Amino acid sequence: MTSIFGYRKEELQLDLVAHGFKKYLAEQIFDWIYVKKIYSFDEMTNISKTDRNKLQEYYTIEPLKIVVEQKSKDGTVKFLFQLSDGYKIETVLMPQSYGNSVCVTTQVGCNMACTFCASGLLKKNRNLSTAEIVQQVMMVNRYLATTNERVSHVVVMGIGEPFDNFDNTLRFVNIINDLKGYQIGARHITISTCGLVPKIKQFAELKTQVNLAISLHAPNNTIRNQLMPINKAYPVEKLMDAVRYYIELTNRRVTFEYILIENVNDSRETALELAKLIRGLNAYVNLIPYNTVAENGYQRSTKINQFFETLQQQKINCIVRREFGHDIDAACGQLRAKNEGIIRK
Ligand code: SAH
Repeated sequence: MTSIFGYRKEELQLDLVAHGFKKYLAEQIFDWIYVKKIYSFDEMTNISKTDRNKLQEYYTIEPLKIVVEQKSKDGTVKFLFQLSDGYKIETVLMPQSYGNSVCVTTQVGCNMACTFCASGLLKKNRNLSTAEIVQQVMMVNRYLATTNERVSHVVVMGIGEPFDNFDNTLRFVNIINDLKGYQIGARHITISTCGLVPKIKQFAELKTQVNLAISLHAPNNTIRNQLMPINKAYPVEKLMDAVRYYIELTNRRVTFEYILIENVNDSRETALELAKLIRGLNAYVNLIPYNTVAENGYQRSTKINQFFETLQQQKINCIVRREFGHDIDAACGQLRAKNEGIIRK
Protein backbone atom coordinates (compact mmCIF):
# COMPACT_ATOMS: atom_id res chain seq x y z
CA MET A 1 0.00 0.00 0.00
CA THR A 2 1.25 3.44 -0.81
CA SER A 3 0.55 6.71 0.93
CA ILE A 4 -1.91 8.87 -0.94
CA PHE A 5 0.15 11.92 0.10
CA GLY A 6 3.01 10.93 -2.19
CA TYR A 7 1.15 11.56 -5.44
CA ARG A 8 1.07 14.61 -7.61
CA LYS A 9 -2.40 14.90 -9.09
CA GLU A 10 -1.39 13.79 -12.57
CA GLU A 11 0.41 10.79 -11.12
CA LEU A 12 -2.60 9.80 -9.07
CA GLN A 13 -4.77 10.01 -12.18
CA LEU A 14 -2.47 7.61 -14.02
CA ASP A 15 -2.22 5.27 -11.07
CA LEU A 16 -5.97 5.21 -10.55
CA VAL A 17 -6.61 4.43 -14.19
CA ALA A 18 -4.02 1.63 -14.03
CA HIS A 19 -6.02 0.12 -11.14
CA GLY A 20 -9.26 0.36 -13.09
CA PHE A 21 -10.68 3.52 -11.47
CA LYS A 22 -11.97 6.58 -13.29
CA LYS A 23 -9.44 9.35 -13.79
CA TYR A 24 -11.63 12.06 -12.21
CA LEU A 25 -11.41 10.29 -8.87
CA ALA A 26 -8.01 11.95 -8.40
CA GLU A 27 -9.59 15.38 -8.31
CA GLN A 28 -12.21 14.20 -5.83
CA ILE A 29 -9.60 12.65 -3.57
CA PHE A 30 -7.44 15.81 -3.70
CA ASP A 31 -10.49 17.82 -2.77
CA TRP A 32 -11.31 15.57 0.19
CA ILE A 33 -7.85 15.39 1.69
CA TYR A 34 -6.43 18.81 0.87
CA VAL A 35 -9.50 21.06 0.79
CA LYS A 36 -12.08 19.36 3.01
CA LYS A 37 -9.40 17.85 5.23
CA ILE A 38 -11.03 14.46 5.47
CA TYR A 39 -8.51 11.76 6.12
CA SER A 40 -10.57 8.61 5.70
CA PHE A 41 -11.81 7.03 2.47
CA ASP A 42 -15.02 5.99 4.24
CA GLU A 43 -16.03 9.61 4.66
CA MET A 44 -15.55 10.50 0.99
CA THR A 45 -19.27 10.36 0.37
CA ASN A 46 -19.33 11.35 -3.30
CA ILE A 47 -17.24 8.28 -4.12
CA SER A 48 -19.11 4.98 -4.47
CA LYS A 49 -18.87 2.46 -1.64
CA THR A 50 -17.28 -0.06 -4.01
CA ASP A 51 -14.59 2.42 -5.05
CA ARG A 52 -13.97 3.48 -1.45
CA ASN A 53 -13.39 -0.11 -0.41
CA LYS A 54 -11.16 -0.73 -3.38
CA LEU A 55 -9.15 2.46 -2.73
CA GLN A 56 -8.26 1.13 0.70
CA GLU A 57 -6.66 -1.90 -0.88
CA TYR A 58 -4.16 0.28 -2.73
CA TYR A 59 -3.69 3.48 -0.74
CA THR A 60 -3.32 4.60 2.84
CA ILE A 61 -4.05 7.97 4.48
CA GLU A 62 -2.35 6.93 7.73
CA PRO A 63 -1.15 9.96 9.76
CA LEU A 64 2.35 10.23 11.23
CA LYS A 65 2.75 9.22 14.84
CA ILE A 66 3.33 12.14 17.22
CA VAL A 67 6.13 11.36 19.69
CA VAL A 68 6.59 14.82 21.20
CA GLU A 69 4.61 18.04 20.87
CA GLN A 70 6.18 21.04 22.59
CA LYS A 71 4.65 24.48 22.71
CA SER A 72 6.82 27.51 23.29
CA LYS A 73 5.81 30.70 25.12
CA ASP A 74 5.86 32.56 21.80
CA GLY A 75 3.38 30.13 20.19
CA THR A 76 5.93 28.05 18.29
CA VAL A 77 5.05 24.37 18.34
CA LYS A 78 7.64 21.74 17.71
CA PHE A 79 6.64 18.23 16.71
CA LEU A 80 8.68 15.07 16.76
CA PHE A 81 7.06 12.52 14.45
CA GLN A 82 7.80 8.85 14.09
CA LEU A 83 7.91 7.35 10.60
CA SER A 84 6.69 3.85 9.75
CA ASP A 85 10.23 2.43 9.99
CA GLY A 86 10.78 4.00 13.42
CA TYR A 87 12.95 6.99 12.43
CA LYS A 88 12.01 10.31 13.98
CA ILE A 89 11.79 13.71 12.31
CA GLU A 90 11.13 17.28 13.44
CA THR A 91 8.60 19.77 12.17
CA VAL A 92 8.05 23.27 13.55
CA LEU A 93 4.97 25.47 13.42
CA MET A 94 5.69 29.20 13.68
CA PRO A 95 2.63 31.40 13.97
CA GLN A 96 3.42 34.74 12.29
CA SER A 97 1.58 37.98 11.81
CA TYR A 98 0.96 37.01 8.17
CA GLY A 99 -0.13 33.40 8.79
CA ASN A 100 1.06 30.03 9.97
CA SER A 101 4.46 29.01 8.74
CA VAL A 102 5.71 25.44 8.93
CA CYS A 103 9.32 24.35 8.79
CA VAL A 104 9.64 20.88 7.25
CA THR A 105 12.34 18.24 7.32
CA THR A 106 13.54 16.53 4.14
CA GLN A 107 15.93 13.84 5.36
CA VAL A 108 16.46 11.60 8.37
CA GLY A 109 19.73 13.16 9.55
CA CYS A 110 22.01 15.15 7.25
CA ASN A 111 25.33 14.52 5.52
CA MET A 112 26.38 18.13 5.05
CA ALA A 113 28.14 18.20 8.44
CA CYS A 114 28.01 21.96 8.99
CA THR A 115 30.09 22.34 12.14
CA PHE A 116 27.63 24.60 13.95
CA CYS A 117 24.50 22.53 13.31
CA ALA A 118 22.86 19.96 15.57
CA SER A 119 21.39 18.06 12.61
CA GLY A 120 24.82 17.01 11.43
CA LEU A 121 25.37 15.22 14.73
CA LEU A 122 23.19 12.48 13.27
CA LYS A 123 24.35 11.37 9.83
CA LYS A 124 21.81 10.87 7.11
CA ASN A 125 19.99 7.56 7.36
CA ARG A 126 17.78 8.13 4.37
CA ASN A 127 15.83 10.62 2.32
CA LEU A 128 12.24 11.31 3.23
CA SER A 129 9.68 10.23 0.67
CA THR A 130 7.45 12.82 -0.94
CA ALA A 131 4.56 11.56 1.20
CA GLU A 132 6.53 11.98 4.42
CA ILE A 133 7.26 15.62 3.60
CA VAL A 134 3.64 16.33 2.62
CA GLN A 135 2.44 14.56 5.76
CA GLN A 136 4.33 17.00 7.98
CA VAL A 137 2.25 19.86 6.61
CA MET A 138 -0.93 17.80 6.92
CA MET A 139 -0.16 16.90 10.53
CA VAL A 140 0.28 20.56 11.44
CA ASN A 141 -2.86 21.28 9.48
CA ARG A 142 -4.75 18.81 11.67
CA TYR A 143 -3.36 20.54 14.74
CA LEU A 144 -4.52 23.93 13.44
CA ALA A 145 -7.92 22.69 12.29
CA THR A 146 -9.15 22.70 15.90
CA THR A 147 -8.94 26.51 15.83
CA ASN A 148 -10.07 26.78 12.19
CA GLU A 149 -6.66 27.87 11.00
CA ARG A 150 -4.45 26.53 8.25
CA VAL A 151 -0.85 26.38 7.17
CA SER A 152 -0.23 29.30 4.83
CA HIS A 153 3.56 29.30 4.44
CA VAL A 154 6.18 26.58 4.23
CA VAL A 155 9.91 26.86 4.74
CA VAL A 156 12.03 23.87 3.79
CA MET A 157 14.57 24.49 6.52
CA GLY A 158 14.22 21.56 8.88
CA ILE A 159 16.63 18.67 9.17
CA GLY A 160 18.40 17.67 5.98
CA GLU A 161 19.59 19.26 2.79
CA PRO A 162 16.57 19.61 0.48
CA PHE A 163 18.68 19.71 -2.68
CA ASP A 164 20.25 16.39 -1.62
CA ASN A 165 16.66 15.06 -1.88
CA PHE A 166 15.82 17.21 -4.88
CA ASP A 167 13.07 15.22 -6.60
CA ASN A 168 11.01 14.50 -3.52
CA THR A 169 11.33 18.09 -2.34
CA LEU A 170 10.07 19.44 -5.65
CA ARG A 171 7.30 16.88 -5.86
CA PHE A 172 6.27 17.95 -2.36
CA VAL A 173 6.17 21.57 -3.49
CA ASN A 174 4.07 20.63 -6.50
CA ILE A 175 1.54 18.79 -4.31
CA ILE A 176 1.01 21.49 -1.67
CA ASN A 177 0.91 24.10 -4.41
CA ASP A 178 -1.82 22.32 -6.44
CA LEU A 179 -4.56 24.78 -7.35
CA LYS A 180 -7.32 22.35 -6.56
CA GLY A 181 -5.47 20.92 -3.59
CA TYR A 182 -3.93 22.50 -0.52
CA GLN A 183 -3.08 25.66 -2.45
CA ILE A 184 -0.04 27.10 -0.78
CA GLY A 185 1.17 29.72 -3.26
CA ALA A 186 4.68 29.20 -4.63
CA ARG A 187 5.67 32.62 -3.28
CA HIS A 188 4.74 31.36 0.17
CA ILE A 189 7.20 28.48 -0.08
CA THR A 190 10.93 28.85 0.59
CA ILE A 191 13.62 26.25 0.01
CA SER A 192 16.90 26.69 1.85
CA THR A 193 20.14 25.10 0.66
CA CYS A 194 23.68 24.97 1.98
CA GLY A 195 24.86 25.53 -1.59
CA LEU A 196 24.70 22.48 -3.86
CA VAL A 197 25.67 24.39 -7.00
CA PRO A 198 24.44 21.99 -9.73
CA LYS A 199 21.07 21.71 -7.99
CA ILE A 200 20.74 25.48 -7.62
CA LYS A 201 21.19 25.70 -11.38
CA GLN A 202 18.69 22.92 -11.99
CA PHE A 203 16.24 24.67 -9.68
CA ALA A 204 16.78 27.96 -11.54
CA GLU A 205 15.96 26.25 -14.82
CA LEU A 206 12.58 25.17 -13.46
CA LYS A 207 11.73 28.89 -13.25
CA THR A 208 9.25 28.43 -10.41
CA GLN A 209 8.05 31.25 -8.18
CA VAL A 210 9.30 29.34 -5.11
CA ASN A 211 11.71 31.38 -2.97
CA LEU A 212 15.34 30.35 -2.71
CA ALA A 213 17.40 30.88 0.43
CA ILE A 214 21.14 30.26 0.54
CA SER A 215 22.86 29.41 3.80
CA LEU A 216 25.93 31.54 3.25
CA HIS A 217 27.24 32.17 6.79
CA ALA A 218 30.59 33.52 5.55
CA PRO A 219 31.77 35.76 2.69
CA ASN A 220 35.06 33.98 2.02
CA ASN A 221 36.38 30.44 1.65
CA THR A 222 38.59 30.54 4.73
CA ILE A 223 35.70 31.01 7.14
CA ARG A 224 33.16 29.10 5.09
CA ASN A 225 35.42 26.01 4.79
CA GLN A 226 35.65 25.98 8.54
CA LEU A 227 31.86 26.13 9.00
CA MET A 228 30.57 24.19 6.02
CA PRO A 229 32.48 21.27 4.46
CA ILE A 230 30.30 21.59 1.33
CA ASN A 231 32.26 24.75 0.57
CA LYS A 232 35.25 22.63 -0.39
CA ALA A 233 33.23 21.13 -3.23
CA TYR A 234 31.44 24.35 -4.16
CA PRO A 235 33.45 27.38 -3.02
CA VAL A 236 32.02 30.87 -2.59
CA GLU A 237 32.83 32.02 -6.16
CA LYS A 238 31.02 29.02 -7.70
CA LEU A 239 28.11 29.48 -5.33
CA MET A 240 27.79 33.14 -6.27
CA ASP A 241 27.88 32.24 -9.97
CA ALA A 242 24.97 29.85 -9.39
CA VAL A 243 23.06 32.52 -7.47
CA ARG A 244 23.57 35.02 -10.31
CA TYR A 245 22.38 32.38 -12.77
CA TYR A 246 19.26 31.82 -10.64
CA ILE A 247 18.48 35.53 -10.46
CA GLU A 248 19.07 35.95 -14.18
CA LEU A 249 16.71 33.12 -15.09
CA THR A 250 13.96 33.73 -12.56
CA ASN A 251 14.20 37.44 -11.86
CA ARG A 252 13.51 36.53 -8.23
CA ARG A 253 15.16 37.88 -5.13
CA VAL A 254 17.44 35.55 -3.20
CA THR A 255 17.74 35.41 0.57
CA PHE A 256 21.15 34.88 2.14
CA GLU A 257 20.99 33.34 5.57
CA TYR A 258 23.80 34.32 7.85
CA ILE A 259 24.06 32.99 11.39
CA LEU A 260 26.20 35.14 13.61
CA ILE A 261 28.73 33.21 15.68
CA GLU A 262 30.95 34.96 18.20
CA ASN A 263 34.43 35.72 16.85
CA VAL A 264 33.99 33.44 13.85
CA ASN A 265 32.04 35.36 11.22
CA ASP A 266 30.81 38.48 13.03
CA SER A 267 33.58 41.09 12.75
CA ARG A 268 33.14 44.46 11.06
CA GLU A 269 35.64 43.47 8.36
CA THR A 270 33.63 40.34 7.63
CA ALA A 271 30.47 42.44 7.32
CA LEU A 272 32.26 44.72 4.85
CA GLU A 273 33.48 41.71 2.89
CA LEU A 274 29.94 40.33 2.78
CA ALA A 275 28.62 43.67 1.55
CA LYS A 276 31.19 43.66 -1.23
CA LEU A 277 30.37 40.09 -2.21
CA ILE A 278 26.65 40.62 -2.69
CA ARG A 279 26.49 44.29 -3.69
CA GLY A 280 24.28 44.85 -6.71
CA LEU A 281 22.51 41.50 -6.42
CA ASN A 282 18.75 41.26 -6.09
CA ALA A 283 19.08 39.82 -2.60
CA TYR A 284 18.75 40.45 1.08
CA VAL A 285 20.48 39.11 4.13
CA ASN A 286 18.71 37.39 6.95
CA LEU A 287 20.91 37.69 10.04
CA ILE A 288 20.21 34.83 12.42
CA PRO A 289 21.20 34.85 16.09
CA TYR A 290 23.03 31.56 16.54
CA ASN A 291 21.20 28.97 18.62
CA THR A 292 23.88 27.48 20.79
CA VAL A 293 24.43 23.73 20.46
CA ALA A 294 26.32 22.80 23.62
CA GLU A 295 28.54 20.21 21.94
CA ASN A 296 30.44 22.30 19.39
CA GLY A 297 31.87 25.22 21.33
CA TYR A 298 30.38 28.03 19.20
CA GLN A 299 28.69 30.93 20.94
CA ARG A 300 26.03 33.36 19.84
CA SER A 301 27.56 36.60 18.61
CA THR A 302 27.42 39.63 20.88
CA LYS A 303 27.95 41.92 17.86
CA ILE A 304 24.69 41.33 16.00
CA ASN A 305 23.73 45.02 15.99
CA GLN A 306 27.13 46.18 14.83
CA PHE A 307 27.06 43.65 11.99
CA PHE A 308 23.56 44.73 11.02
CA GLU A 309 24.46 48.42 11.08
CA THR A 310 27.58 47.87 9.00
CA LEU A 311 25.53 46.13 6.32
CA GLN A 312 22.95 48.89 6.42
CA GLN A 313 25.59 51.58 6.04
CA GLN A 314 26.77 49.63 3.01
CA LYS A 315 23.21 49.82 1.64
CA ILE A 316 22.69 46.08 1.83
CA ASN A 317 19.10 44.97 2.50
CA CYS A 318 19.09 43.03 5.71
CA ILE A 319 17.03 42.06 8.71
CA VAL A 320 17.73 40.34 12.00
CA ARG A 321 15.51 37.30 12.14
CA ARG A 322 13.10 37.12 15.02
CA GLU A 323 13.72 34.10 17.12
CA PHE A 324 11.29 31.31 17.63
CA GLY A 325 11.03 28.72 20.32
CA HIS A 326 14.39 29.34 21.93
CA ASP A 327 12.97 27.72 25.07
CA ILE A 328 12.00 24.51 23.22
CA ASP A 329 15.10 23.61 21.18
CA ALA A 330 13.66 24.88 17.92
CA ALA A 331 17.07 25.12 16.24
CA CYS A 332 17.58 22.68 13.47
CA GLY A 333 17.93 19.15 14.74
CA GLN A 334 18.05 19.99 18.42
CA LEU A 335 14.90 18.21 19.51
CA ARG A 336 15.66 15.07 17.58
CA ALA A 337 19.28 14.95 18.73
CA LYS A 338 18.16 15.31 22.33
CA ASN A 339 15.53 12.64 21.96
CA GLU A 340 18.18 10.27 20.63
CA GLY A 341 20.52 11.18 23.48
CA ILE A 342 23.11 12.72 21.14
CA ILE A 343 23.20 16.10 22.87
CA ARG A 344 22.73 16.99 26.51
CA LYS A 345 19.20 17.44 27.77
N1 SAH B 1 20.33 22.23 4.68
C1 SAH B 1 19.60 23.42 4.41
C2 SAH B 1 18.32 23.57 5.23
C3 SAH B 1 18.34 23.14 6.66
S1 SAH B 1 19.17 24.19 7.81
C4 SAH B 1 20.49 24.62 4.60
O1 SAH B 1 21.64 24.46 4.98
O2 SAH B 1 20.06 25.74 4.29
C5 SAH B 1 18.21 25.65 7.90
C6 SAH B 1 18.98 26.86 8.38
O3 SAH B 1 19.23 26.78 9.79
C7 SAH B 1 20.32 27.00 7.70
O4 SAH B 1 20.56 28.34 7.35
C8 SAH B 1 21.25 26.54 8.80
O5 SAH B 1 22.54 27.00 8.57
C9 SAH B 1 20.58 27.13 10.03
N2 SAH B 1 21.03 26.57 11.30
C10 SAH B 1 21.49 25.34 11.56
N3 SAH B 1 21.82 25.21 12.86
C11 SAH B 1 21.57 26.39 13.44
C12 SAH B 1 21.70 26.88 14.76
N4 SAH B 1 22.17 26.12 15.74
N5 SAH B 1 21.34 28.17 15.00
C13 SAH B 1 20.83 28.94 14.00
N6 SAH B 1 20.67 28.53 12.75
C14 SAH B 1 21.04 27.27 12.46
